[in-house]
Amino acid sequence: MPERNGSQSYHCRFCQSPLRFTFVNLGMSPLCESYVSAEQMHHMEPFYPLHVYVCEQCLLVQLLEYVSPEHIFGGEYAYFSSYSDSWLQHAKAYTEMMIARFGLNHTSHVVEIASNDGYLLQYFVERQIPVLGVEPAVNVAAVAVKKGVPTVVKFLGKNTARTLAGEGKQADLLLGNNVLAHVPDINDFVGGLKILLKPHGVITMEFPHLLRLVQGNQFDTIYHEHFSYLSFLAVEKIFSAHGLTLFDVEEIPTHGGSLRIYARHHEDSSRPVEPRVAALHAQEIQAGMDHLEFYSSFTERVKETKRKLLDFLIRTKRQGKTIVGYGAPGKGNTLLNYCGVRTDFLDYVVDRSTYKQGKFLPGTHIPIFPPEEIQATKPDYVLILPWNLKQEIVSQLAYIREWGGRFVVPIPEVEVFE
Ligand SMILES: [Zn+2]
Repeated sequence: MPERNGSQSYHCRFCQSPLRFTFVNLGMSPLCESYVSAEQMHHMEPFYPLHVYVCEQCLLVQLLEYVSPEHIFGGEYAYFSSYSDSWLQHAKAYTEMMIARFGLNHTSHVVEIASNDGYLLQYFVERQIPVLGVEPAVNVAAVAVKKGVPTVVKFLGKNTARTLAGEGKQADLLLGNNVLAHVPDINDFVGGLKILLKPHGVITMEFPHLLRLVQGNQFDTIYHEHFSYLSFLAVEKIFSAHGLTLFDVEEIPTHGGSLRIYARHHEDSSRPVEPRVAALHAQEIQAGMDHLEFYSSFTERVKETKRKLLDFLIRTKRQGKTIVGYGAPGKGNTLLNYCGVRTDFLDYVVDRSTYKQGKFLPGTHIPIFPPEEIQATKPDYVLILPWNLKQEIVSQLAYIREWGGRFVVPIPEVEVFE
């Protein structure tokens, strides 16, 4: 098992100040993507702390590096982006928007960091725009290559960026969706972006917005893979320290509310800073995100959400009803482990990913079946764990109403609906 990172562990990953203030402590939890096979069921399973701090100097909210990213993302990784319809639509809409806004064509070069199975770059390939994926998980990268998306199996940092730049692979458009929050050494990563970007190139990064996490009580998006919880104010400081200017930002609905930031070199004055940058600043300051108190009040709300979920589950089981879960996402595992929900409450969960079917959820050991199991067993309640995909799932499972089945979402607090 990887060691704690010595004295680094208790210092801010951006500004190196000592970390003394808790944002939220979710106790001990297993790695949320470590699905358990039938053979592993009777073996020991590693649990790690899920204790999130806020840096009193730069206000970056962060999890210590309890587990190395090589351990989490390297080798085999269970997450295939292409399994969600709405995520694919999001990716396609993004490519069309970027092509139109930045005039990308067959002479451009698009590089995606953490390109997964090529779910996004495939749409640039369709338009004859040269691409390169950078993806650390071998099995996932292999799927991308099979689809015609050239992919190097690497983590991005300054070293990888220098190598790629040396091979003439700098980017006109350099993008990363849900990767900025997933890098433990955020300075090495953003420094790498700077190196890999052409002089007039554009970086876009999407990440869950910390303001939405707090307002929407989305504590289940905290897991070991997710090292930083990002405000616009914090990201602006980090990019600026590496010679990059944020010149635009959009609020987008993915993952319960995300930001898409646009960055360029400080030196590139061809792109003026858009008014949306100042507007988002003002919004975060208005919410109090420039003060420590904003962060320290989160803990109590999380505890109350746990009490409400358990209250619902206990009442429902005492009425003799059946409850199952839909989806086996990382966020479900944080929620179920923190709340101590096992097969005493949920008979099983279903997931469309054939990689997960037949396995068990980490920690709670709830079995994962194909979605057809719901039709076969007709449960009274379906708890939707990936609540960010609620609309999509409710329409897929509309048939549960035939037997009076009802849906439940756990976040921001328990809600039952027909
Ligand atoms: Zn700091």
